[in-house]
Amino acid sequence: MEHRSARLTRDWRFPVVVLLPVILSLVGAAAGVLGFVLWSAQGVDAGALTRQTDLARHVIETELKRIPHDQESVTIWDDAIYNTKLAFNAAWIDTNLGTWMREYFGHDDVIVLDQDDQPIYAMSEGARADPGREAAALGDIRVLIANLRRLLTEGGADAYEKGNTPTAPNVAALRLVGGVPSLVSIAPIISDSGTIKQDPDTIFLHVSIVRLDVDYAQRLGEQYQIPDAGFDLYPDTSSGRDGLLPLTDSAGRFITFLQWTPVTPGRDLLMQTLPVIAGAFLIAGLVAALLVHQLWRKSHALEVGRADAEYRAAHDHLTGLPNRTTFEAILARTLAQRPSRDRRTSVLMLDLDRFKQVNDTLGHRAGDDLIQAVGQRLGEMLANGDTLARLGGDEFAIVHAHAPGLMAALGLSQRIVEAINKPFDIFGSEAFVGVSIGIATADLNEADAHELTRRADIALYEAKATGRNRAVVFEDSMNEFLQNRKTIEVELREALRRDDQLSVAFQPLFGRDGQIVGAEALARWVHPRLGQISPAHFIPVAEATGLISQLGAFVLRAACSMGAKWPGHTFAANISPVQLRDPTFTATVLDLLRTTGMQAQDLELEITEGILLEEASEATEALRLLRSTGIKIALDDFGTGYSSLNYLKRYPVDRIKIDRSFVSQLAPGSVSVAIVQAMVTLAHALKIEVTAEGVETHEQAEVLDALGCNIYQGFLFSAPVSPGNLEAVLRQPRSQVA
Ligand code: C2E
Ligand code: CA
Ligand code: CA
Repeated sequence: MEHRSARLTRDWRFPVVVLLPVILSLVGAAAGVLGFVLWSAQGVDAGALTRQTDLARHVIETELKRIPHDQESVTIWDDAIYNTKLAFNAAWIDTNLGTWMREYFGHDDVIVLDQDDQPIYAMSEGARADPGREAAALGDIRVLIANLRRLLTEGGADAYEKGNTPTAPNVAALRLVGGVPSLVSIAPIISDSGTIKQDPDTIFLHVSIVRLDVDYAQRLGEQYQIPDAGFDLYPDTSSGRDGLLPLTDSAGRFITFLQWTPVTPGRDLLMQTLPVIAGAFLIAGLVAALLVHQLWRKSHALEVGRADAEYRAAHDHLTGLPNRTTFEAILARTLAQRPSRDRRTSVLMLDLDRFKQVNDTLGHRAGDDLIQAVGQRLGEMLANGDTLARLGGDEFAIVHAHAPGLMAALGLSQRIVEAINKPFDIFGSEAFVGVSIGIATADLNEADAHELTRRADIALYEAKATGRNRAVVFEDSMNEFLQNRKTIEVELREALRRDDQLSVAFQPLFGRDGQIVGAEALARWVHPRLGQISPAHFIPVAEATGLISQLGAFVLRAACSMGAKWPGHTFAANISPVQLRDPTFTATVLDLLRTTGMQAQDLELEITEGILLEEASEATEALRLLRSTGIKIALDDFGTGYSSLNYLKRYPVDRIKIDRSFVSQLAPGSVSVAIVQAMVTLAHALKIEVTAEGVETHEQAEVLDALGCNIYQGFLFSAPVSPGNLEAVLRQPRSQVA
């Protein structure tokens, strides 16, 4: 399980691989858009500031032109000449040239100068002031006065009065007056009608001063919409009043700053749009996060599914053990490691005996439980480095890695056989199973997993064929001969041609009273080189090659000959499904009965359950036909095949032969007792006789007797014997076993 989670954490990289680019591109896009917006806002604001500075400059210029214009309303006026120069009238001057300028135009100071530039009247902030105290101010504007005097002596006033120039002469400028930055304008007091002629040197002058103070700045600000406008010698830009225009006089001398808070349309727009942009990116971010999350969940689920599928593909779902594929991989890996002289790898192939019966009798759940219990019991017996796998059904395999060779594998196998023979508690009943084991040990230079597996398989086959519930070590002789079907075929064909290799043995059958009632004919082959070969080896080859018809006929003839000699006894022969399907089979059997003279009712054909699975086939038809002549049909190896007890109702048979694997497990209280009991009860209900095979002990015989078994066969009574020996037994008047 660890490797599963390990694989999962490793693949956390995938979302990161997706997430990172998404986050980066989002942040990148946000930064890009923000940068662009800021950049363009700054551009807009910089342009706006330039325009505002131009405007401010223009405002100051306009103001400098406005003041002379204000003055002209009173200075170009005959009454003004009269009341200042001709008959000095202080009250009139104050009203018309002084306070009027203040109230109507907002001029801060007015000074009226006589022809010698001496102040004859002064007004300061709307009140008459002492003209004598204006000396300091006059000092500051002396140059301007001189400039105007020059214009006048050059005939400026004349030219205007005659209409030669559209504007009256005047001088206006930015100046520090008494240390205060001011707009100063000086205009001559001249005739509006042209009737009063003045010598230019005698013209009186009118001085208007507008101080660049807080009030004025406020007025300008309102009039021209310059926010926070102010004049300041020492500007402070920390407050955001970044609009700054240095004001200089005509000679270029610095006077003061005009300062204001610039209008920033760019930034204003930015402030308005920024939340919208931020919102858009937030939404985009959320959507991306959602998508990535979905993607991550999908890929995570996919990954979990994949890891799970991988695990399932490599393991058996029931036991969680490695399956065949994994077993082969592990074996190959183990063999690839360098073996040493005393450390060799063995493969153990295991096959449970009688598993099918537990499954059929107690149900599939019980079968599953049993497989799990067997898996667990096996697992507990393994050493570190060994691998247990379930190859399927009731087959297991063990890689016994780097053990000290064959003896270790044999020892382990023996312990396994003993352990599996101990009862399993399944749903409260005791279940007995056995195990057959094939062992193959790798040669020093062996590295072929397939070859090793094949050898263990052959050994397993041998273990099953020679009685089950045992371990058999692979030997080369098995390989050479048994695995080469071609050789068997050739040699069996040869044996069938001759009369010195094949024979028929008879195993006596006994009734409840201990009387011999007949015998089962069994094929025997004594090979000149290999000695006795088990039918379990050559019958399958005979079936596969079609030689079974000939071999079967040979055995049948022996059985019929014996039957003809001993009428009233039952002689049984094993019939392979291949024989049954042979269309000439029925004729062969009936011919043999006729030629030997055996009674049909003395002949019993032993078939396997498998044949009954076939729906109305040639084989089942042949059986029906043969049975109609009085020949008996027996179901051999009952309980080991695929059919269930239900088939007995569908296909009429005369006998069942309970397989010896059940009989060998018969002990009071075991599951096998219940199974055999069920078989006997059902068979008897259907008027079917029951034979017990492989009876080896008195205890088994007693249990079978109690269960009502009809016929007994087994080593306890007699092994298969030669025809001569059989006849010797038959001849004894009351042959019987103690
Ligand atoms: P089977 O039909 O179940 O025959 C009984 C087998 O059980 C025989 O093995 C017999 O020797 C053995 N046996 C008898 N009593 C005992 C006992 O108490 N304990 C144990 N452990 N075994 C016992 P055999 O002769 O090796 O035959 C093996 C199988 O080969 C037979 O099983 C049968 O299926 C098949 N076979 C034998 N002869 C023929 C034949 O002529 N034709 C066909 N088609 N199959 C045959
Ligand atoms: Ca048989
Ligand atoms: Ca049998």
